Amino acid sequence: MSISLESRLPRVGTTIFSVMSQLAQEHAAINLAQGFPDFECSPELLELVYKYMRDGYNQYAPMPGVLPLREALATKIASQYQFSPSPENITLTCGATEACFSAITSVVRPGDEVILFEPAFDCYVPAIELAGGIPVYIPMHYPHYQFDWQMVREKVNSKTRLIIINSPHNPTGALLSKHDMLELEHLVIEKKNLIVLSDEVYEHMVFDGLPHESVLKYAALRERSFAIFSLGKTYHVTGWRMGYCVAPAALTKEFRKVHQFNTFSVHTPSQYAMAEFISKKEEYLRLPDFFEKKRDYFLSAMKKSNFEMFPSKGSYFQMASYKNISTQPDVQFARWLVEEAGVAVIPTSVFYHNGVDEHVVRFCIAKKEETLQAAADRLCKI
Ligand code: GLN
Repeated sequence: MSISLESRLPRVGTTIFSVMSQLAQEHAAINLAQGFPDFECSPELLELVYKYMRDGYNQYAPMPGVLPLREALATKIASQYQFSPSPENITLTCGATEACFSAITSVVRPGDEVILFEPAFDCYVPAIELAGGIPVYIPMHYPHYQFDWQMVREKVNSKTRLIIINSPHNPTGALLSKHDMLELEHLVIEKKNLIVLSDEVYEHMVFDGLPHESVLKYAALRERSFAIFSLGKTYHVTGWRMGYCVAPAALTKEFRKVHQFNTFSVHTPSQYAMAEFISKKEEYLRLPDFFEKKRDYFLSAMKKSNFEMFPSKGSYFQMASYKNISTQPDVQFARWLVEEAGVAVIPTSVFYHNGVDEHVVRFCIAKKEETLQAAADRLCKI
């Protein structure tokens, strides 16, 4: 007898990232869909992990993360954002996705409203809904994808508990500017109960000399924010599932209550390896340039295509309109593209709760030049 169950997440299916990676594999397509690099991390980092494994660092790490890594992260943050967090306010998580889940579920109660901008990365809303919260959506529109603070102000009320920001933004490649941060800062000063979740996993992928605006740079913001980062993205090891959350003591306390019963702790030898490797500043300081070159390479390789490209300002991603190629809905177009052109992309309507379809797809540019070239060769033929 099969069990009949009322789903707690009735509108949720398998994430688009799994679906497209699976399709890419089935059709032996070039995968510019799910955001992960197709190049290797530093061999030195691998050696360090082996070293710590051989040296016997193979049992549970402390629940918040190993101290040397939290200290190294505190030093890294101090050098980037003019703010020195205590290692006590840093928690290592199983990827940034776990950090988002633990942050959201630790502060959102049934009936609380959570403001987020759409298109939105797909892990926020399920966490809000599991906590009984109500997502309140602020749309961003192709091609400029501005953050509309006027609308945010209209939506904030006494039930608003959390506002989620994400910069560099997935999927659009938009960046929050200093002006945006000041708008948000004014808002949280006015509305004292508002907490911020700032997803900054692409902090080092910012282009054209633009700065990354972290909430940690703004005193009033960092006092009420969960700032979430990713070692997987920064060190090209997304499969290691290593993220971390920086938050003031009161938020960290609640965050860890969820984290400890969610994943408890993170892979031990990788943490010690990272603790040692992070002192090499050049590894992350070169990333804006490294990824900007990839964006430029892809844009130039796509010049002759019929896609309309609007240069990304940051992140792993580049958006493009296919309105000159097809009138198909984007999910259908993405399926057609993988089957007929042999390139997997992400349709962007899946990042909207109401399926807004602006005939735009997302390409991941965190790939070797030869991969970007091979994909562009195929895409230029359609
Ligand atoms: N962050 C990555 C992306 O946007 C993938 C994350 C995932 O697959 N969960 O493509």
